[in-house]
Amino acid sequence: MSQTFVTIARYQYSSEAQIVKGRLEADGITVFLRDNITIDTDPLVSNAIGGVKLKVLAKDVTNAREILRSIKVYSLDDNGNAISCPNCNNQHVELYSTITDFKSFMSFLIGFLFGTLPFSTRYQYKCEDCKTEFPVK
Ligand SMILES: [Zn+2]
Repeated sequence: MSQTFVTIARYQYSSEAQIVKGRLEADGITVFLRDNITIDTDPLVSNAIGGVKLKVLAKDVTNAREILRSIKVYSLDDNGNAISCPNCNNQHVELYSTITDFKSFMSFLIGFLFGTLPFSTRYQYKCEDCKTEFPVK
């Protein structure tokens, strides 16, 4: 039973899944990606086959979910301060994007890696707690 793999997340692109995989493995969790080779070969099939599946051993599921939560990227303003929700003032604000193609995903990824997220009208903030959505300034 403990050798059973459970899918805990799906990613549209394998590069995204690889980042998360690296983070989980740093904590000693065995990670198995499914369909990433197929999607690397042809990113357009990603939606059709349900994305890259990130799987962990059944015994690691709780742990892995905890880590996934902790590495969620919360949004920062230009000065590196956390964005607060205008409704409840919580700082668990995510950049909610309408990333739908590979090009916008890559610019997101580069922004993520270098700390300069490209803000545009294609993005909105969303408060994780009260679900308020508000525009990027
Ligand atoms: Zn809120």
